[in-house]
Amino acid sequence: MREIAIRMTRRNHNAFVHLLGALESQGFDIGELLITKDLDEILRAKPKVVLYSFFTEEVWDVEKEIALLKEKTNALLVAGGYHATAMPRHTLRMGFDIAVVGEGEEVIFQLLEVLKRSNFRITKELVNIRGLAFYLGDNFVFTGLAKVEDFTKFPPFAESSRLIAPMEISRGCPFGCYYCQTPYAKGFRMRHRPIEQIVKYSRRMKDMRYITPNAFAYGSPGAVLRLDKLEALLKALQPLRKEGRRLFYGTFPSEVRPEFVKPETLELLIKYADNRRLAIGAQSGDDEMLKAMHRLHTTEHVRQAVEYMLEYGIEPVVDFIVGLPNESEESQRKSIEFMKWVMRKGGKVRAHYFMPLPGTPWARCKPSPLSEEMKKFLGRMAAKGYIEGSWGVQIELSKKLQKLIEEFYEESPSYVGSLKQLC
Ligand code: SF4
Repeated sequence: MREIAIRMTRRNHNAFVHLLGALESQGFDIGELLITKDLDEILRAKPKVVLYSFFTEEVWDVEKEIALLKEKTNALLVAGGYHATAMPRHTLRMGFDIAVVGEGEEVIFQLLEVLKRSNFRITKELVNIRGLAFYLGDNFVFTGLAKVEDFTKFPPFAESSRLIAPMEISRGCPFGCYYCQTPYAKGFRMRHRPIEQIVKYSRRMKDMRYITPNAFAYGSPGAVLRLDKLEALLKALQPLRKEGRRLFYGTFPSEVRPEFVKPETLELLIKYADNRRLAIGAQSGDDEMLKAMHRLHTTEHVRQAVEYMLEYGIEPVVDFIVGLPNESEESQRKSIEFMKWVMRKGGKVRAHYFMPLPGTPWARCKPSPLSEEMKKFLGRMAAKGYIEGSWGVQIELSKKLQKLIEEFYEESPSYVGSLKQLC
């Protein structure tokens, strides 16, 4: 019987694949784990522990599963991921017994070791593991945010498992956009996997795809371009391309910041990668809004990036967020104009509705309603297939998130100490 189960889903697949690599490299036998996307299999197996990882947007679905697990098993329920990190008290309230707070590679190994020794009970021993929140009797215990300075000491995939995912090659981001969880949960300094390690594990991929907050910032502390390091990485992957693998860089599931799109970076892309589209975040067509959200680039950077991409025959895929806090009709009009310009040029637009996320400076900010003009524009463009994105469903989800954060507000543990809430 397997005592520890991992509840895999489409959305947490990448996180757990990386965690399996970390667990195995620390000496944990991952053959002991029941790893499944089938909840019924977990219910039937009646394990002693079930591990979850999820985003705040998934809270309502996860709550239903937790109720089922509580009814049909006696398993200890452990949650990690962005929600557990930003709202550990709420995570316990949902029915979890332990929240893993912060980067999970070391915590999860230590936690499973201690739980095995204590016959899967919550004991005082857990107080010594950094990165946990739980109740010891009636007392809430929080042992501090778990930080992993060097995530590259853990391989991205487990040797003994066939599970793979797009590889996390860089972690952390210095830009601190007010709506984004990454820098607050993973740090402002960008750290990178060494090239040899990336090459070694890329051999296991058919299509080589990577996870990074800004693909063109590879090798740099994050805010500057290190063309030499970027080229060294792309060059090192060429033998693998020759063996038939395709290299996707700066596109799904990652993107690049607009000011990093320059002739020099595009030349590298053309020379070394297979994708002929690149995803960049514009977020707004109004410079005042870009300032307000701390994007630290202007609309001119985006314009320039789009022009450069077209010159090099790369299709621009440009992300916008609509309904931003304090976004006036005039700001929305500027975004509409900008989106029209991108489309006229031959680029693709992806529109998202603003979603307040816990653990960010904009967690308590209210989304702005969409102007009639914006609603009509997005509807028309989507019907013609010019705009992609899920702003429609996100409007409802955004309301639910806002309600949840208000009702259960807690100050989020963060890499940068106390987080200033800007609304
Ligand atoms: S949105 Fe991108 S650039 Fe901004 S903080 Fe998040 S990861 Fe960094």
